[in-house]
This record gives sequence, structure tokens and C-alpha cells, in this order.
Amino acid sequence: MERLLELEVITAERRVLHERAESIILPAANGYLGILPGHAPMIAGLTVGVLQFGPYGNEKRRMAISGGFAEVAHDRVTVLADTAELAEEIDLERALRARARAEERLRSRRPDIDYHRAEMALRRALNRIKAAQG
Ligand code: ATP
Repeated sequence: MERLLELEVITAERRVLHERAESIILPAANGYLGILPGHAPMIAGLTVGVLQFGPYGNEKRRMAISGGFAEVAHDRVTVLADTAELAEEIDLERALRARARAEERLRSRRPDIDYHRAEMALRRALNRIKAAQG
């Protein structure tokens, strides 16, 4: 039988996904990381990015992740994410509104704006838009 990875994605709120996949691409802190069955055990920090999973070399399903950790061991990939939404779960209108809000904050020169926070909100919104639109 074909060897598969077992992917589990969990947030503090819910178990988002538990599925088998031939290949997984993780948004690791220092770049996208491809995982195939037989990968060496590893723990990686994740950043805001799109996690992809599915058939090797073919179109994959997408999930927007905003930071966390991934553990790879014995063909199991466990992702503990700050937030995670499958592409089809993403409310695109909401993400577009979040983007507009963050851009507006970053453009304003008001002294009470937390720029780092606005920058992170913008990154999450752009990432959700990217995951939803493919
Ligand atoms: P917003 O300002 O729209 O709340 P945000 O980036 O501040 O966006 P987060 O704090 O990252 O939101 O996420 C809060 C919760 O809302 C999480 O459970 C996350 O999965 C969910 N979420 C955020 N944006 C969306 C979206 N566009 N579609 C679906 N779920 C979303």
C-alpha cells in the first residue's frame, strides 16, 4: 500500500483537520518546507503562510496558518497553529475588510497606532486572501 503522511492541524479553539496526504508544504519560519513520507523527525516554527497538502506534484488543498509549530515524526505531521482555516472556510469579505483596516492604520500617522500589530494584521489578511483565491 502507498505510504502516506498523517496530518493533524490543531488550534487552541478546535481540531481543524485530520487527514492523510502524500505531500505537505509547511510555511516554516525560514521558508516553505516540503514534507514527504520518511522525513526525519523535526520540530519547526511556523510563520504566517499557506499550508498545502495533497497529492505529490499535483494541485493541493490550501489552509491559511498564522504562526505556530509543526512536529514531524514517524510520518505524522502535527501542526499547532495560532489560527488555521481551510481555503473554503475563509470569509473573503472579512479578510478584505481586515486588509483595508490594517492598511488604513498603517497609512495614518496617528501616534496611538501600534504599527507592529497593524503590520501583523495586514499579513494575516493578505495570507487569507491568497489562500482563499489560490
Ligand atoms: P479580523 O480582524 O477579521 O478578526 P484577525 O486577523 O484579527 O481578523 P485572528 O485574530 O487572526 O483574526 O483570528 C480570530 C479568529 O477568527 C480565528 O479563529 C480565525 O480562524 C478566525 N478568522 C479570522 N479571519 C477569518 C476569515 N477571514 N475567515 C474565516 N475565519 C477567520
